[in-house]
Amino acid sequence: MSTSSEQSAVTVLGLGPMGRSLAGAFLDAGLRTTVWNRTPGKDQDLVERGAVGARSAEEAVAASGLIVVCVVNYDASDAVLRRDAVAEALKGRTVVNLTADTPARARETADWAAAHGIRYLDGAIMTPTATIGTPHAVFIHSGPQELYQEHLPVLEALGGAHTHLGEDIGRAAAYDIALLDIFWTAMAGCVHALAVARAEGITARELAPFAKGIGAILPPAFEEAAEELDNGTFSGEGNPLTSAVSSMAHIVHTSEAHGIDAGVMRAAEGMARRAVGQGHGADGFIRIAEVLGRR
Ligand code: NDP
Repeated sequence: MSTSSEQSAVTVLGLGPMGRSLAGAFLDAGLRTTVWNRTPGKDQDLVERGAVGARSAEEAVAASGLIVVCVVNYDASDAVLRRDAVAEALKGRTVVNLTADTPARARETADWAAAHGIRYLDGAIMTPTATIGTPHAVFIHSGPQELYQEHLPVLEALGGAHTHLGEDIGRAAAYDIALLDIFWTAMAGCVHALAVARAEGITARELAPFAKGIGAILPPAFEEAAEELDNGTFSGEGNPLTSAVSSMAHIVHTSEAHGIDAGVMRAAEGMARRAVGQGHGADGFIRIAEVLGRR
């Protein structure tokens, strides 16, 4: 069990760019902050700012009632947390794992934590390091509601918005995966578009103002998708799937004419063609989500 001074303190395990930002925000909020990283030396700035640099993960864990973990993935967080000495030190304390990985890994880690008497919350960070400690940070959490409420005052030192998504420990990771799916496929489209534009003699600077306009189409499209998919209505009025398939084919042809790999667009076009082939050509693009989800 932790003492009351341990309860007003926080430990950060993992001092990559994100772990350092988290620890920095805790320090700025005046919390007693202990830090540790696998590779030594990454705590230097933080120690200069008042953090306690622990010599081992178990020493770092022993310093606080709340342990925030932020490493590259759950293989790494397992390597840190599941050593006997660390697991022993964690007993009775709370781990908030802000490392990104799959919902299955989050659930499996929660089972391991429960078997070792460790209180466990999972979470994900949806914004870049520069937002941490500012109103622009976005954190999502899942796991026992009471445990979340108990630690929220300290977590709020990280700034921004914190949302508890439910008691299913895998839920934050599930949101994270879905949101990163949007991000990485959009970014893949973005870099591909820049390559094709360049091949046509258009600079990235010339394209940027128009690209921003395309980006602005997405927020209302998300609202529309939410209504359509959850209600099961897929109006293709104004932009049926058949028209989308034709537009996507132009992108494939232009890319390949320049010798540019069109694999991402071919995959997207393939999904749209399958939905058309199943008789949904007059429906809107969101119909593909329903078709993909069929088992
Ligand atoms: P990385 O994802 O590169 O993670 C680096 C950290 O992981 C370092 O502390 C590194 O330690 C540690 N690590 C890697 N392998 C191991 C291992 N086997 N054992 C112990 N520690 C290990 O950098 P970030 O800090 O940016 O990201 C951390 C997490 O935050 C990731 O899950 C990422 O997806 C998430 N995130 C990051 C964002 C960002 O903008 N950077 C935004 C949103 C989420 P060492 O120094 O010893 O190599």
